[in-house]
Amino acid sequence: MLKSDLDFICMLDMHAHLLCLSEEYRGRLTKQELSALAMQELAARREYGIDTVFSCGTPQEWEFIQKCLVQSETAKQNGSFMLSFGIHPWYSDRFDPQDCRELFMASPIVGEIGMDSVWCEVPLAVQRRVFAQQLEIAAELKKPIVLHTKEQERQIAEMIRDFPGKVCVHWYSGGEAEFEKFLEAGCYFTLGPDLAENFTPLYERMLREILADRLFLETDGLSSIAWMRRQEMESVSFRDIPEVLEKNLELVAREKQMRTEELRACLKKNFHEFTS
Ligand SMILES: [Zn+2]
Repeated sequence: MLKSDLDFICMLDMHAHLLCLSEEYRGRLTKQELSALAMQELAARREYGIDTVFSCGTPQEWEFIQKCLVQSETAKQNGSFMLSFGIHPWYSDRFDPQDCRELFMASPIVGEIGMDSVWCEVPLAVQRRVFAQQLEIAAELKKPIVLHTKEQERQIAEMIRDFPGKVCVHWYSGGEAEFEKFLEAGCYFTLGPDLAENFTPLYERMLREILADRLFLETDGLSSIAWMRRQEMESVSFRDIPEVLEKNLELVAREKQMRTEELRACLKKNFHEFTS
């Protein structure tokens, strides 16, 4: 019997950024050092069986990761890495979505896209325009989207109301009323890397109300794991990626009263459905 690609997935990290592309490293490593660190990460993720969706927020990031994947021997061994492209709200004043059509066409997912009024200085009017344009492109190309919603949840829930495709809200941390809007709209949700270590009442509610077939787990990349633990970058290692994901998988399984392996299979199936 032929096995589908999905049978090879051990664990899915639905939303991640390469460690080397975090501000801390980008500023102080040479180009070669950045590539070497990217290779290390790809090899580690491959070794631990972590299938990963790398979110590329700029055309340069897409190009960089694409190059690393071509160079990386370990990545060639199976197709366990996927890139997703969308102009990140943080960079929405630097790029015109219309100039990125080829990347949108090549990307199986459009994202992360959205708006952010906490960690971002770009005027909201600019963010909104770029987000709206990307929603249109995703609808036209019939691609699913991944949302970044930091403190713009209400506005974003409004803006996606007529979006015809699948929507995934990444690491939701907004209000409860807005959560209901996304839930009613049938969105998928990724639970953040801090799920088990910072099990908030919001997470409790999300786990109660989001159906298992709408859930994903993510790390947002190793730099976010360091951030959520308030640790220095040097004190986290690639080994933390499978550890965080497995711990969160166990917590979700417990809350959903499912067996871990049953949930693992369910997450794979969700990914297949989200991207097909
Ligand atoms: Zn992200």
